[in-house]
Amino acid sequence: MTRPTRGAPGVRRAKKKVALVSLGCAKNLVDSEVMLGVLKKAGYGFVPRPEEADIIIINTCGFIGPARDEAEEAIVSVLGLKRADPGKTVVAAGCYVERDSAGLRAKFPEVDAWTGVRSFDEIAAIVEGRPKSGADRTFLYSDASPRLVSTPGTWAYVKISEGCSHRCGFCAIPSIKGPYISRSAASIFREARTLAGLGVKEIDLISHDTTWFGRDRGLREGLAGLLERLAQVPGLEWIRFLYGYPEEITGPLLDVMAGPKICRYFDIPFQHADPVLLRAMKRGLDAPRAIRLVDRIRSRLPGAAIRTSLIVGFPGEGKKEFAALKRFIQEARFDHLGVFAYSPEKDTAACALPETVSGEEKEDRRREIMILQAEISLAHNRSRVGQAIDVIIEGPEPGTLGFWTGRGRFQAPEVDGVVHFTLPPGLMEPPSPLVTVRIESADAYDLAGRLVP
Ligand code: SF4
Repeated sequence: MTRPTRGAPGVRRAKKKVALVSLGCAKNLVDSEVMLGVLKKAGYGFVPRPEEADIIIINTCGFIGPARDEAEEAIVSVLGLKRADPGKTVVAAGCYVERDSAGLRAKFPEVDAWTGVRSFDEIAAIVEGRPKSGADRTFLYSDASPRLVSTPGTWAYVKISEGCSHRCGFCAIPSIKGPYISRSAASIFREARTLAGLGVKEIDLISHDTTWFGRDRGLREGLAGLLERLAQVPGLEWIRFLYGYPEEITGPLLDVMAGPKICRYFDIPFQHADPVLLRAMKRGLDAPRAIRLVDRIRSRLPGAAIRTSLIVGFPGEGKKEFAALKRFIQEARFDHLGVFAYSPEKDTAACALPETVSGEEKEDRRREIMILQAEISLAHNRSRVGQAIDVIIEGPEPGTLGFWTGRGRFQAPEVDGVVHFTLPPGLMEPPSPLVTVRIESADAYDLAGRLVP
C-alpha cells in the first residue's frame, strides 16, 4: 500500500526477484501483502511465476486437512524447481508452519527458511538468513506497515484483528494464532483513508471474528463504532465486514448498518442447526434462535444479503440431525452458503469425539446441501432480473472482448457470485469504478446484464 522507498543498498539484493504463493483465506492474503510490502521496501522485485523467481515464498494455510494437503503440494512443486535450479531460495511461512513446524521440517529438509505467523515483518531478514531482530510475538500490521495490495484497484481487505478468543469445538485457530488482539480504530481509519486515496471504493473488514472487535480493549459495540467512523472516510463508498459471530449481531450494529455506505451484507457462520451438535461444537444459536436473528436482520434492513457456512458430518450427526439442518436451510433461505465436511483437528475439543459419519457419507451430505442451496440461490438471483443495481468493477473478463465483471453490494469478493456485464456501443471501458447494471439473466451463482449509461 505504501509507496516503495528506495531499495536498500547492494546490487545483489536489488536484483533478486521474489514470487509469493498465497494459500488459504483473505486473512492470509493480507499477511502475504504485508510480506510483499516489506520486501519491496528492502529492494526486492517481484515476478508472478515461481519459475522466474530467485526466492519463492509459500504462505501456507493449516486450518483443515485439505488446506494442509494443498500446502504440501505447493512445497513439493517449488522444491522441484529448486532441484532444477539450486540457486533458488524456498521459504515456507504461515499457519501450517506455525502449527507443525517440526513435522514439516522433517518432511521437507530442502526448504531454506521457515516462519510461522509471528514474524511477517521480518521476512527480509528471514529470506536473507539473518537473525531476526525481535522475539516471536503475535504480528499485527498497522497503517504504517508497508503493504502491496494485490486485489483489483477498486477494493481491498482490511484486517482489523489477529487471533481468536472463542473456543469452538472443531477449530484449531486459537491454538495457531493465539487470543484475539484488535488493531486500534485510529490505525484502521488511517489505513482506510490511504486506501481511499489510492482509488479504493470498497473495503472488506476481516478477522477471525469481526464482531468481537475492540472487546480486548474494553469496548462494547466496537465494530458499530468502527463502521460509523469508517463511513466518514472521503472517497470510500462501500464498507463490508465478513466473519460475524451470530450472538454478536446486536441492535446498535444493525442501526449503524442502515447507513448508506455500509453494505447490508451479513456473513454469519451458523455451523449447524441441531442444538446437541451445536453444544458439542461450543457454538451458540440453535435453529429457532438463528431463524429469529435472520428474520430480525431482514425486517430491520430490507434487501440484506446473508451468507452462512455450515459443517456436515460432525460426530453425532445422524439422519435426524441432518434433516434438521436441511429444514433450517429451507427456512432461512440464505443468499449464499458454504458447506464443509467435518475433519477432526488436533488441539481441538471435538478431536476426542469418536467419528460417526464416514468420509463418503460426509461428501454425500455436503453435495446434498449444495444442491439444496443452489435452488435457493437461483430464486434469489432470479428475483433481481430486470432490476438496475449498483456494481463495483472487478475488471475485464479474461479472454473476452467487451465483457466485464463486477459485484453487487450483496456479493462479497472471492466467495460469492459476480455480475457479468457488457458496455453500451462506443464505450471501451466502464466510466467509473462504480456503475449501474441492468440485470437480464441469472443462474445459481452469477448474474448478467448491461451497463446503464
Ligand atoms: S470463532 Fe470459532 S471457528 Fe471462528 S476462528 Fe474463532 S474458534 Fe475458530
